[in-house]
Amino acid sequence: MPVTLLGAAEIRALAAELDVTPTKKLGQNFVVDANTVRRIVQVAGVQAGERVVEVGPGLGSLTLAILETGASVTAVEIDHRLAERLPATAAAHGVSADALDVVDADALRVTELAGDPTVLVANLPYNVSVPVLLHFLETFPALERGVVMVQAEVGERLAAPPGSKTYGAPSAKAAWYGPWRLAGNVSRQVFWPVPNVDSVLVAFRRAADARGTEQERLRTFRIVDAAFQQRRKMLRQALAAVLGGTAAEASALLEAAGVAPTARGEELEIGDFLRIARAQGGVA
Ligand code: SAM
Repeated sequence: MPVTLLGAAEIRALAAELDVTPTKKLGQNFVVDANTVRRIVQVAGVQAGERVVEVGPGLGSLTLAILETGASVTAVEIDHRLAERLPATAAAHGVSADALDVVDADALRVTELAGDPTVLVANLPYNVSVPVLLHFLETFPALERGVVMVQAEVGERLAAPPGSKTYGAPSAKAAWYGPWRLAGNVSRQVFWPVPNVDSVLVAFRRAADARGTEQERLRTFRIVDAAFQQRRKMLRQALAAVLGGTAAEASALLEAAGVAPTARGEELEIGDFLRIARAQGGVA
């Protein structure tokens, strides 16, 4: 039996049956348009036989579009009512029981995923999208690529190059793992309820080689946070505390890393931040 998708009326009926009123707190804006979920799956290039992890499957519209390709899905959902119902919805739409694994949990606390998914596909809850992405990239090294739907401003930040207006700590941290690109706009009208923000698709691909060790990543991310907490200040001032000294000592360290002490965080790419962390490691 081929997998069939959920229609708009069926999604509302399911929510009513489960007594689910979508909440802002959990970012519950469900996609009620089959073309949109198919498009997300297509942009992600999901292939039969792959294992995909989906964060926040909700009532299952995107989940079924992923399963339609012949891929398997591990779906992590925090809302118990939705997590509990998903297997029955999938079975009623032609999905075999072994193709779907539902994890009833907060995605930010998940540290193990059966089957080591290699692809992340999700319509992410808006308020936790960046922490979820960074947590998944850090915790699941088998994840090699992904396409997620996020609030437009967040997507622009994730894909922003150094020097651009939207470049910030999330941009630099996301770039640690590999390149990101904007992969299209999504109309508000495809959601129920209709959100009051615009959405975009953003795609990432993990770089073949890790940039550095876990210790280097932690130190680099601390430096990134400090640089953007005081983004108008020159690095020699903004980083003095995190580098454990005076502005003069920070200057010497920045010079050793090949970074101008008078530069600002927004001019630096992630590789520059890593060099600062390594220079600091050298003197610690
Ligand atoms: N994938 C569905 C769709 O496209 O219709 C639902 C997407 S909705 C934007 C976000 C989903 O994430 C909701 O089902 C919500 O309950 C779930 N969610 C919110 N916070 C979560 C968390 N921390 N961990 C896992 N799921 C979460």
